Amino acid sequence: QPILSMNSVEVLYDNVMLAIKGVSVQVPKGEMIALLGSNGAGKSTTLKAISGLLKAERGRVSRGEIKFEGTDMTGMLAQNRVDMGICHVIEGRRVFEHLTPDENLTAAAPTGMSRSVLSAEKEKIYAYFPRLAERRNSLSGYLSGGEQQMLAIGRALVTQPKLLMLDEPSLGLAPFLVAEIFGILKKINEEEGMSVLLVEQNALAALEIVSEGYLIENGRVVMNGTAEALKSNS
Ligand code: ADP
Ligand code: ADP
Repeated sequence: QPILSMNSVEVLYDNVMLAIKGVSVQVPKGEMIALLGSNGAGKSTTLKAISGLLKAERGRVSRGEIKFEGTDMTGMLAQNRVDMGICHVIEGRRVFEHLTPDENLTAAAPTGMSRSVLSAEKEKIYAYFPRLAERRNSLSGYLSGGEQQMLAIGRALVTQPKLLMLDEPSLGLAPFLVAEIFGILKKINEEEGMSVLLVEQNALAALEIVSEGYLIENGRVVMNGTAEALKSNS
């Protein structure tokens, strides 16, 4: 059974704008899957349908079904989805700039997480992201774009997600940093068994780390296959 199963999902914004037109995506447990495609294709909308963030943008799923670990997500609030283990790192690396990385991680921890578990989680995150560890007590507003992206991912990891969804983490970063961050994501996926759904316009970089990809164009999946197959097609 896939951890995430999305079947023929349509999303309407403002009751008129059909942004995705019957998208089906499966994420097998423990796998890393990419949604590829150009700007405006419907990739972010697909992630928002899964995390429940559509409502704030006057959007809604108007058809189809989304199941997480077999549970139908229809009508479920975004916070409940987080509690179930779905974490969505939205585009634009949102972090609290007036707080340090350490304080950002604390602020992102689920309510009720004990101090000892939180501090163990932080150390685990810093071990994955040594650059972040070095800056843990600097103000986050002064971190580089790459370090802020690492912190945005760290804020997601501290919630101990089962499915980590990332929207364009490579945006605006130097190629060496993209390679570094993607390498770390792959390592987390392998070592923690965490399932990952990665949205990327940078198909070449994404296809280096995922097992499978979906190409989305104009609100529809136009191609789905293994990373190898998609690489030879692009
Ligand atoms: P991508 O992530 O692939 O760039 P999006 O999912 O952001 O694409 O957008 C898909 C389509 O939906 C685009 O035509 C976009 O203009 C439209 N869209 C996205 N968000 C909204 C919104 N809140 N209201 C109306 N239209 C939207
Ligand atoms: P366990 O179920 O072995 O007690 P945890 O409760 O520590 O594992 O974490 C739950 C899930 O969240 C794990 O499956 C793991 O994939 C993921 N996870 C938790 N913390 C981290 C982290 N710091 N980095 C990466 N993945 C993490």
